[in-house]
Order: sequence, then structure tokens, then C-alpha cells
Amino acid sequence: MASKKILVTGGAGFIGSNFVKLILNKYPEYKIINVDLLTYAGNLENLKEVCNKPNYTFIKADIRDREIIDHIFSRYIDSVVNFAAESHVDRSIEEPEVFLTTNVIGTQVLLDTAKKYWKINPNDKYCKEYKHGVKFIQVSTDEVYGSLGAEGMFVETMPLMPNSPYSASKASADMIVRAYHKTYSLPINITRCSNNYGPYQFPEKLIPLIINNCLKGKELPVYGDGMQIRDWLHVSDHCSAIDAVLHKGVDGEVYNVGGNNEKANIEIVKLIIKTLGKSEDLIKYVKDRPGHDRRYAIDSTKITSQLGWKPTYSFEQGMKETIEWYLKNTDWIKNIVSGDYVNFFDKMYSRI
Ligand code: NAD
Repeated sequence: MASKKILVTGGAGFIGSNFVKLILNKYPEYKIINVDLLTYAGNLENLKEVCNKPNYTFIKADIRDREIIDHIFSRYIDSVVNFAAESHVDRSIEEPEVFLTTNVIGTQVLLDTAKKYWKINPNDKYCKEYKHGVKFIQVSTDEVYGSLGAEGMFVETMPLMPNSPYSASKASADMIVRAYHKTYSLPINITRCSNNYGPYQFPEKLIPLIINNCLKGKELPVYGDGMQIRDWLHVSDHCSAIDAVLHKGVDGEVYNVGGNNEKANIEIVKLIIKTLGKSEDLIKYVKDRPGHDRRYAIDSTKITSQLGWKPTYSFEQGMKETIEWYLKNTDWIKNIVSGDYVNFFDKMYSRI
């Protein structure tokens, strides 16, 4: 397989940093350019083991900045994996605007630039010379489908019915990515993955939040009755799915990615409490999130049967390793819990 030069956006975040490391380890001949704005969620410490590799470059930049994005593409990118996003639902309820500018307009800037540097005719002399065809992978979420009742699973052909500003911004991005394929024949794929867990996740998300609060003996906020169901997938399995789509995805196709691990939020909280030997008295039920989706469940038959991907982690093993990782890396948590995060957390849970 020819060597690739991949632009990864949002590669200093949770999933992006795991993806950058997977690709650099698995394909040492590939080059990665990681573009990240380093918002509160971006952390270069996640990448310290690869930062000196000659085939890895980091550029601090905003995906909404056309000029710099154009400049980066002009250095012969052949694939884009777009992780960059505002990703936290609670924040999208408080301040939706940045979700629209980054998640929608930022994606459109990347698409426009990919279109500019992609040549329709693969036999074009310019394309042959520079191998300069740009493949665009949009990393999306199962949340774009909305909420399920007790039965059924999300399949790729379902209509998008997002319920939060976050999921609406991701659904909008999916639509514009699809449109660039239909209108301009840009080679794209969209992946829609369920909830991820694993190392390097920012501690505003359920699993690291509960681990961190348990370790500090702080109350464990649980929305509503805690019976919201999510399908959980280890971040490494999500990254291997994106790897499969990058190399084998059929242009224009959407692939669902999930772990077949449906768990209620309260089950996750109790599992962490038990593993850490803490008391369930720490649980504090708080007013439910507005528009809170009740259940997500994802059918991954398409990626499994067509691209040969399957998850490798059992939920039990993945959670055991994840909890151990956070126990070993308390300094990592301490270093990233910025003033911004503390203020946001206090504001969100001031009702406790
Ligand atoms: P994250 O919040 O941990 O990381 C997002 C990264 O994007 C950060 O490094 C941030 O600095 C960067 N970023 C934000 N705005 C930017 C901008 N304007 N320009 C450049 N960089 C910017 O998010 P994550 O959990 O790693 O999620 C990554 C992607 O995967 C997102 O697109 C998200 O919608 C999607 N996703 C996440 C999950 C999940 O469970 N976490 C599940 C499915 C899909």
C-alpha cells in the first residue's frame, strides 16, 4: 500500500490522540499532520510519546481558518480524518454558537479545501505526479439519529433526528459532507460511533468524571433517574474502525460503529464505585439534562460484514484497564483540569 499523508484534525483530543498513535505505530511509513486549536479539550500531553517522530507534525490552528487550512493542504495531503469538534452536550446547551461555527463551518472549510485540492480525473497528470487525491473521513456520532424507545437499533439509512445543539451540529456536518460527495463527487465517508471510553478522555465525560470524583470522595452527579442507555465502545476499537474505513471504505458510504454493550448510566456509575471500593452514598441524582436522549443502540452489521472490522475489547476488560489507567495517571487529570473546566463544572452542577 502506498504511503499516506494524513491530515488529522482534533488530534490532541481524546479519540484523535488515540488515533494518531495507532496510525503512527501501525504504519510507520505514513506521515501525519495534526491540526488542533488546543481548546480546553485539547492536550498535547496525550501525544508525548510520538511528538518527536520525524513523520509527525503538530500545527496549532483553527479548522475555521481558511488561509491556514489552505496552506496545510498545499503540502499534499491525501486523506483527512476530521475529529475536531466541540464535543460536550452539556456545553452545547449552555453555549451553542461555537458548536455551529466549529462543527459545521469548520467542516465546510475543510471540505472546500479538500475539493480545491482534489482532482476529479484520477488520470490527470497533476494527480499522477503528486498522488494528490483527497479522501475525507468525517468522524460523527450515533447521537445524530436521536433517541430510541426500548426496542430497535440505529441503522445507517435512518433519518437524522438530533435533539441537542451538539448532535444537531454534528448532523448538519454529516449533511454537508454528504452533499459534497453528491454534488462535487468528493470521496468521503462518515463514521457514526457510539459512546467511547478509555485512556485520555477529558474528565467532564461520564466515566472519567465518575472515576475522578470517586478518587476525591466527591459527590457523583447522575442525571434524572440514571436509566439513560448508551452503547459503549473502547476508544481503540473506534480507532481501528476508522482505520478500516480509511483504507477500505467505499466512497460516499456511512458506517455505524458500536460495541453491542448497552448499559444504563447508573450501571456504569455503580460499576466504578464497586471497582474502586467506594460507597453508593456518593451518588447524587440531579435534575435531568433538557432534551436528554433516553436510549442509543447501534447496529454495526455494515462495517463488520463489508469491511471486516470487529471490536476486540470486552466491556469488562476495557473498563478494568481504563479504571487502572486513570488510577495510574492522576497527574494527567490534575494537569488538564483547567480553571475553565472547574468553573464550568461548578456552574453545571450547582444544583446538587
Ligand atoms: P474532544 O473534545 O476530546 O476533542 C476535540 C478536539 O478538537 C480537541 O483537541 C480540541 O482542541 C479540538 N478542536 C476543537 N475546536 C477546534 C477548532 N475549531 N479547530 C481545531 N481543533 C479544534 O472530543 P473526542 O471525544 O475526542 O471526539 C472527537 C470526535 O469524535 C468529535 O468529532 C466527536 O463528535 C466524535 N465522537 C465522539 C464520541 C465520544 O464518545 N467521545 C463518540 C462518537 C463520535
